[in-house]
Amino acid sequence: MHPAPRVLMTRRRLIGTALAAGSLALVGRIRRALAQASGPFALPPLPYPEDALAPVISGTTIGFHYGKHHRAYVDNLNKAIEGTDLAGKSLEDIVKATAGDPARVGVFNNAAQDWNHTFYWSSMRPNGGGAPTGAIADHIKDSFGDYAKFRQEFATAAVTQFGSGWAWLVQDPDKKLKVIKTANADTPMARGINCLLTCDVWEHAYYLDYQNRRPDYVNAWLDKLVNWDFAARQLAA
Ligand code: MN
Repeated sequence: MHPAPRVLMTRRRLIGTALAAGSLALVGRIRRALAQASGPFALPPLPYPEDALAPVISGTTIGFHYGKHHRAYVDNLNKAIEGTDLAGKSLEDIVKATAGDPARVGVFNNAAQDWNHTFYWSSMRPNGGGAPTGAIADHIKDSFGDYAKFRQEFATAAVTQFGSGWAWLVQDPDKKLKVIKTANADTPMARGINCLLTCDVWEHAYYLDYQNRRPDYVNAWLDKLVNWDFAARQLAA
């Protein structure tokens, strides 16, 4: 699938989430932030209040993670592309154009981290997690055997990613679902892989709440936060 239509769909999904939450002000902010096809980029609004994922992830963690870390990636990206040939491109195009280019690793890191974090916020919702139902459940069964095997594979990837990085549920071109992990800012999207879910396993994602206990964060994330509706909407037709 060409990436552009999916970006538009993601915008509609975020707006739908905000509508469901009954916040017209948030809808307006999401519309304005995501209407930008090119830089300078804005920090996209969170799909829920900062404390909505507590006690699994505290409002303090989200406050720093979203308000400081994610914001810094957006600000640094804007500084890095200003006045360059990348200034008029979409976020996805910037990530793909700079991936693997040693001369533009700084741009790649900040652009990819902006995209990864926006995807991560939508991969979670209050009272989420556990086994999915519907079409995504059928895909999980076909690809992994059953939910328990998927869960084990995802948890293992998230826990064993050495140092900073991400665990992903992705869909291959043959439609099969797969669990992969990436280091630092690396993102499957840079290689045109269809992403369904991601879990941030950088220490800043969990250290205030779980300290060194990354497995506890990952288990709680899988059992209580996964937004399966979001994952299902990423499935290729
Ligand atoms: Mn992060």
